[in-house]
Amino acid sequence: ALPGSKVKLVLNLKNPSGSVLIWWLDSELTCGQSRPLVFTQGHSVCNRSFFPCFDTPAVKSTYSASIRVPDGVTVLMSASRSSYSKLDRIFQFSMEFPVPSYLVALVAGELQHVDIGPRSRVWAEPCLLSCAVKKLGGSVERWLGVAEDLFGPYLWGRCDIVFLPPSFPIVAMENPCLTFIIASILESSEFLLIDVIHEIAHGWFGNAVTNATWEEMWLSEGLATYAQRRITTEAYGEATPITSTQSSSTLYFLIALSEAFEKRFVGVYFSQFRLIYFYC
Ligand SMILES: [Zn+2]
Repeated sequence: ALPGSKVKLVLNLKNPSGSVLIWWLDSELTCGQSRPLVFTQGHSVCNRSFFPCFDTPAVKSTYSASIRVPDGVTVLMSASRSSYSKLDRIFQFSMEFPVPSYLVALVAGELQHVDIGPRSRVWAEPCLLSCAVKKLGGSVERWLGVAEDLFGPYLWGRCDIVFLPPSFPIVAMENPCLTFIIASILESSEFLLIDVIHEIAHGWFGNAVTNATWEEMWLSEGLATYAQRRITTEAYGEATPITSTQSSSTLYFLIALSEAFEKRFVGVYFSQFRLIYFYC
């Protein structure tokens, strides 16, 4: 084709594993048990069953999406812009910053939100929302401010958080503009704090600057964990060992949960590594 001319590219996609790595939950598997819910978890190569993509962190692109849903269903994506047309029930998203395919994520269900800061809101099923807001209200903006003092401006605009049912296969995922986090984490305020700060740190380390290959993912996790500790130390002082029985048992339960999934889903290792690494 001549330079500047348009070409039509047709891709025939076949998922080599044959499995569809999109989590369709019947309503019984959600926290509220009133409506079905669907979510994706792209890390590391699961998004190949979501859309055609180069599932290496070396390739980044912007993206846009249009999604039609039944009444009463809200869709969220890891995108910098979104809009909703009530007339035709279509959500539209666009991500203006280039991201690797593993950072494209979607969740749809009975989700409601509360603003907890000038650039952050909490999304959750209605039955979880007040607890999540109580635990995070005001804190996210504070942590973002500390992180910006340390590492420079936060590039992504929004810093929203969505809580997912316990079948979410990992603890949390740093999807840009919209962190995904497992609702079980609300059982432990300390763990919630550490993990949300960790995902915020990925806004600089892993998402803005990304390792080129999967083998180098330790750079993303290592630098995010370093940044997480810097932010935590600035905000709360030096770390002290956690000794309460409740915190420990919650932690070990979550590690056990991660281990239960590790044979089925890639990506748990990082969360698990992070937990053990942080606490030991
Ligand atoms: Zn991480």
